[in-house]
Amino acid sequence: MKVLTQRWFDTLQVETTAEVPGFNLRRVSDTVRGLSLDEKTTREDVATLLKAITGKPVDIDAIDKLDAQAAANDPLAGLLRADAILAHPVFNTHHTEHEMLRYLKRLQNKDLALDHSMISLGSCTMKLNAVSEMIPVTWPEFGDIHPFAPPDQATGYLEMIQGLTDALKAITGFDAICMQPNSGAQGEYAGLVAIRRYQAAQGQAHRNVCLIPKSAHGTNPATAQMCGLQVVVVDCDDSGNIDVADLKAKAEQHAANLSCLMLTYPSTHGVFEEAVKEICAIIHQHGGQVYMDGANLNAQVGLTSPAAIGADVSHMNLHKTFAIPHGGGGPGMGPIGLKAHLAPHAPGHIFATAHPTSPPGHLLASNRVGAEGAVSAAPFGSASILPISWMYIALLGGTGLTRATQFAILNANYVAARLKEHYPVLYAGRNGRVAHECILDIRAIKATTGIAEIDIAKRLMDYGFHAPTVSFPVAGTIMVEPTESESKAELDRFVAALISIREEIRKVERGEWPADDNPLKRAPHTQADIADTEWARPYSRQEAVFPLPWVAENKFWPSVNRIDDVYGDRNLFCACPPLEEQ
Ligand SMILES: *Cc1c(COP(=O)(O)O)cnc(C)c1O
Repeated sequence: MKVLTQRWFDTLQVETTAEVPGFNLRRVSDTVRGLSLDEKTTREDVATLLKAITGKPVDIDAIDKLDAQAAANDPLAGLLRADAILAHPVFNTHHTEHEMLRYLKRLQNKDLALDHSMISLGSCTMKLNAVSEMIPVTWPEFGDIHPFAPPDQATGYLEMIQGLTDALKAITGFDAICMQPNSGAQGEYAGLVAIRRYQAAQGQAHRNVCLIPKSAHGTNPATAQMCGLQVVVVDCDDSGNIDVADLKAKAEQHAANLSCLMLTYPSTHGVFEEAVKEICAIIHQHGGQVYMDGANLNAQVGLTSPAAIGADVSHMNLHKTFAIPHGGGGPGMGPIGLKAHLAPHAPGHIFATAHPTSPPGHLLASNRVGAEGAVSAAPFGSASILPISWMYIALLGGTGLTRATQFAILNANYVAARLKEHYPVLYAGRNGRVAHECILDIRAIKATTGIAEIDIAKRLMDYGFHAPTVSFPVAGTIMVEPTESESKAELDRFVAALISIREEIRKVERGEWPADDNPLKRAPHTQADIADTEWARPYSRQEAVFPLPWVAENKFWPSVNRIDDVYGDRNLFCACPPLEEQ
C-alpha cells in the first residue's frame, strides 16, 4: 500500500482501489482514494480500513508501538506545541452540568432575544422559528451526512431538497433554483455571475454597467463591484420610489454597456413600487437583465412573485422569509431562482448529483454535473438547515403562506397607522399604505431636541424591546418590520413603548428635562444605576426602569450602560486576559 500524502492533518490519499463496506472512500482518481479520520473514528475502524486496503490482518496494538517510535523520529516533532491549551478561565470553571447550564443562562440573560419580546428589525424579517420546524435538523439523517456522500445514500435528503426546490419554483415563478449560496449576499454574487456568463455566451461580455437605486442594501453595490461591474446609482423620488425618468435616462445612456439592474421589491423603503413592471421592461429594452434582491420576499409570497414582476434572477433569504433562525452570524441559505435562459449559467459543482427519481430535465440548477463556478464548497450549501424551510412551507401550505404574507403586511400597516401621529411614516404608497415594514422619521425630532434615532433605540431596551433597524436605508430613521408572527397584544406593547418614548421626548421639547440629561440620552439603565445611593437625575428611578406599568412584569435588565457604538466599532479590543498574563 502506498500512502501518497507526506504531511497531513486528518486526510490521507492512498493508492488503492479497495471498496470497504461501511466506509465511503473518496475517489480521487482511478487508482487513488482519499480518507479522512476524526475524533469519532475508532481503533476498530482503523483496523478494518487497514485490513481492507492492505489485504492483511492488522494488530492494532502493534501499530500503537510503531506510532510511539514514529513520533520520536518525526523530524517535525518540534512543531508539536507543548504548552497548555484552553487555559482561559472560561474553559476551566464550569465542570458540572449545572454550572455549564447556568453559565449559558447567564450569557443568555445579557441578550435581548425573541424569547423575551419581538425584534422589529426592518429588512431582517425576524419571524418565528417554530420548534416543530427546527426538530428535523437534530436528526442524524440530516446532520451526520457528508455533503459528498454517494447519492444513493442520500436519497431522502435529495428528495427533501427537490421538494423544497419545487416549492420555491412555485413561490417565485422561476424555472430553476440553485440551492448553493449560503447567504443573500452570496446569492447576489451567484446571480450576477450567471448574468455575466449568459451575456458572455451571447457575445456581450463587454456589458459592465450595473444600475442600483439609491435605496439599495449595501451588499448590492459590493456584489456588483466583486463581479467587475461599474455601479451607476439611480435616484429615488420624494415618495421613495425609483425615479423612473432617471432610470430611463441612465438605461439609455448606458444602453451599449448595460449589464443589469439590481432591484429590491418591495423596496427597502417599505413600499410596493407601482412602476416595478415598467422598470423591468425598461432594463430589458436596453439589453439588460434584472436581478431582484429577494430579502423582502416575505411581502410577496402568494400575492406576487419575482418572475411576475419581470425579474430574471433573484435570491431568497431562507433565513428571513422561510423561517431559518438568524442573527449572530448564521448559518444561512440564499438560493437563487433563475429564468430558463440564465439557468445554464448558474453555479454548478463537480460533485453535483440528481435525485435518482427526478424526471429528465428536472435537475436542480446546482446539479449541473461538472459545471464550473461553484460558489460554495458543498453542492447544496448549508444543506442541513434546509429541513427548516421545508417544514415551514409544508406546514403552512399555499393558503397558509399567503395568509402569512397578508398578516405581515397587515401588522406593518397597523404599526404604521398607530404610530404616524407620533412619528411621521417616511414613505407610503399612493393609497397611504406601506408593505411589510415602515420607516419612522426621527430627523425633525433630532433637529429640534437633539434626541436622535440612536437614543430611541437605546431607550427601547428599558421598555424590554430590541431596537428596530436604525438609519437604514435612510439616515436618521428607524425601520420597523413586525412580521406575521407577532400577536396584536405584542404589537400594542411595542406601540405603547414608542408612544411613551414620544411623550418623554415632548418633556425635553417643553424644557422639563434638559436636552443632555433625560432618560433617553442616559438609556439604557442598569440595576447598578438605580441601586446607586446617589440619584441626582431630573427623572425618577421609577421612570428610568419601569416607565410603563407592564414593564415590571417581564423586566429586561441591560447589563451595561450605553457604549459609543462608533468608537467601539473603530477601537476593537480583546476581552480575554492579555497574552503576557497567560
Ligand atoms: C439581508 C439583506 C441582504 C443580504 O442578505 P444576507 O443573507 O445577510 O447576506 C441583502 N439585501 C437586503 C435588502 C437585505 O435585507
